[in-house]
Amino acid sequence: NDSFGHSVGDELLRQLGERLKGILREGDLLARLGGDEFVVALLDADGERGAMMAQRIAARLQEPFQLGAVRAQIGASIGISIAPGDAVEGADLLRCADLAMYRAKIAGLPFAIYNEELDGRGNRIGLVEDLRAAISGRTLELHYQPQIECATGAVVALEALVRWNHPRLGNIPPLEFLPLAEDAELIDPLTELVLDMALAQCARWHAQGSDVSVCVNLSSTNLHDPQLPQLVRAALTRHRVAPGSLVLEVTETTAITDFNRSQQTIKLLRDLGLVVSVDDFGAGFTSLAYLSSLAVDELKLDRSFIHGLASAPDARNQALVRSTIELAHALGLRVVAEGIEDEECLELLVELGTDLAQGYLISRPLPAAELDLSAAAFRLPLRKLPPAA
Ligand code: C2E
Ligand code: CA
Ligand code: CA
Repeated sequence: NDSFGHSVGDELLRQLGERLKGILREGDLLARLGGDEFVVALLDADGERGAMMAQRIAARLQEPFQLGAVRAQIGASIGISIAPGDAVEGADLLRCADLAMYRAKIAGLPFAIYNEELDGRGNRIGLVEDLRAAISGRTLELHYQPQIECATGAVVALEALVRWNHPRLGNIPPLEFLPLAEDAELIDPLTELVLDMALAQCARWHAQGSDVSVCVNLSSTNLHDPQLPQLVRAALTRHRVAPGSLVLEVTETTAITDFNRSQQTIKLLRDLGLVVSVDDFGAGFTSLAYLSSLAVDELKLDRSFIHGLASAPDARNQALVRSTIELAHALGLRVVAEGIEDEECLELLVELGTDLAQGYLISRPLPAAELDLSAAAFRLPLRKLPPAA
């Protein structure tokens, strides 16, 4: 709906219904619960038949859909529950299926079967409540990962990465609880908290004499929230941090979703004087020329580009990175390479003209208290560069 409009979305739902119907037997029930959720009820089926059906559905949905001029590929997560073992009431069965579906989603699996131990009765609802409490009680934490300037080795910025240390379950990775926050409409308060904590820390660093920036990640819901620019401005004022010391990261996918709205919001944010960065660039298929009409300041090359850049002598990949950096520079963008794990890779990226570097090689994300910003600059690997042609 966001990318191609509602009529294309409606057409997708129609075609999807037809495809699903084609797989079912007489007596099976197919229904749409609303939005993008469907339910299939199989009569006299056991877990085995459920799993087989889920596999067939997943396979059918992987084939692209032709929606007018648009060719679209979708993904789905399927949860299975079985009566009478899991529950007997319809609503309870659906809740069990929903929990299994959620587990499939976070694990990136096509389907999962409800398991009382793993999903726990009402566990997900419990987790949402725990997350809500962690946000309002401000017990979420931030770790910071330094970015160094390639020309000098000095730390110039730190990316704030949210951490949730659950009182019972221990550390839950952001990629597991962020979808939960999105689903439960907690992503706005979460981002507000992260922004607030990151700016407070940035002010502390400034007071200690280091002129660093902080980078905060935005989700697509955040970017498309009309309140965002105002909220950011208020937070900057509250902490007396200059707008130029705040970098907001939006992923390539987020930026191109609802392009016009993204463009407007990004303009408002840049008018405030802060830096807008396109995260995970290269993970999607957006051309840099298209992206340039968004008028952002910075490009973060996706980890998939960087990974193995130096170790596997893949000339194509290197050429891609080299020309992406050249084009970005020609468009006036600063280039950050992230996910750098070894010296060879850093060396190569410096040689290719990367402006800023980030990755485990330089430092893992750490609590502010464990970072020493007064330390000498990171020692860049020294390699004699071949004389310029
Ligand atoms: P991201 O924005 O791409 O952040 C970089 C991720 O790569 C972090 O994972 C970081 O720990 C990891 N990383 C850094 N250096 C290396 C390296 O050298 N090698 C490898 N393999 N990985 C490296 P993390 O902290 O688990 O965060 C995952 C994702 O969760 C982030 O990806 C970001 O999309 C999201 N996220 C984290 N914090 C926030 C937040 O406060 N708000 C929002 N909306 N999203 C967040
Ligand atoms: Ca990021
Ligand atoms: Ca990234």
